Amino acid sequence: MWCDLFVTNTAPIDLRSDTVTRPDEQMSAAMAAAEVGDDVLDHDPTMRALEERVAQLLGTAAALWVPSGTMGNLIALMLHLKRGDRFLAPRGAHVLNHELGSAAWLAGGMPEPLDWSAGPGRPTAEAVRAQLGGAAAYDMLHTTLLCLENTHNGAGGAVVPPDEHVMLAAAAREGGLKVHLDGARLWNASVALGVPPAALTVGVDTVQACLSKGLGAPVGSVVAGSEEFIGEARRVRKMLGGGVRQGGVLAAAGLVALDRLDALAEDHDNARALADGLTELGWDVTPPQTNIVLAAVPDVQLTLRRLQAIGVRAVPMSGQVRFVTHRDVSKTDIEEALRRIGGARL
Ligand SMILES: *Cc1c(COP(=O)(O)O)cnc(C)c1O
Repeated sequence: MWCDLFVTNTAPIDLRSDTVTRPDEQMSAAMAAAEVGDDVLDHDPTMRALEERVAQLLGTAAALWVPSGTMGNLIALMLHLKRGDRFLAPRGAHVLNHELGSAAWLAGGMPEPLDWSAGPGRPTAEAVRAQLGGAAAYDMLHTTLLCLENTHNGAGGAVVPPDEHVMLAAAAREGGLKVHLDGARLWNASVALGVPPAALTVGVDTVQACLSKGLGAPVGSVVAGSEEFIGEARRVRKMLGGGVRQGGVLAAAGLVALDRLDALAEDHDNARALADGLTELGWDVTPPQTNIVLAAVPDVQLTLRRLQAIGVRAVPMSGQVRFVTHRDVSKTDIEEALRRIGGARL
């Protein structure tokens, strides 16, 4: 008892990201027991099982495991874009700001950010239509792809509702654009909205979803689309050095992760509790829709240092302080974080 109290009162509470989770016993056991083969040579059986399950969840014909969300997005963009093309993405999108410009450097597409006219992280279908039309002159870029993001990380885990998503995808398709969905946290959007993940992929050609964020797998994402796309994606993954041999060890973690979709609701509850508590303490917080809390402060770096000093870890994001809840922080941890922040008068 005394020991428990001691630990809760001193251990750092890590709210930097939902990627800091560690495999629990059940996941480690599944990894250790995984049936494996050579996935580069002729497909690993556990990889195959994971890919089939994800394709079904996302409502696509096929899926491919990839080591990271960044590689999943890059593979899709490399297959959708060529030099001289332009792609549209909501301002602050991960593909624009957090992938080192690989969409331009490696996939060859010129980015065109779309403003958040429909709400945080959400462009309008009109904004997509305004960017359509063939190149008026030979020296102009061809707009060929819309890259959506749900939830929108930089906008604080903002959710794009299904009706808006459908209109965005339809506007793009009517204009002859392909549609890629960066669904790193699509699972969170699905749980927050109470709709199946496949309801949020309607009209897209390809989608990327992470297993290593809120779902808690140590490694892995999936990129999904048509059989033909996945055939090509497998080639590009190899080209990028992302083929792994006995990958079933990692896919087994992904399969356990997919059993935990519903548990994301607890992270969302904890994010709301954190936001409410911070608001009571006088912080300027955007009410969270999922598991990300953004707080506007006068000096982000100073606040992060002060938080660190009291054992609460956060990161800078979009000029604000970002806290992320995840399966390795409990309701009690959130209460403790609020106690520390209140006690230090931050
Ligand atoms: C984290 C994230 C990615 C990239 O995933 P990694 O596995 O870290 O490469 C892509 N898009 C969004 C929206 C993300 O939040």
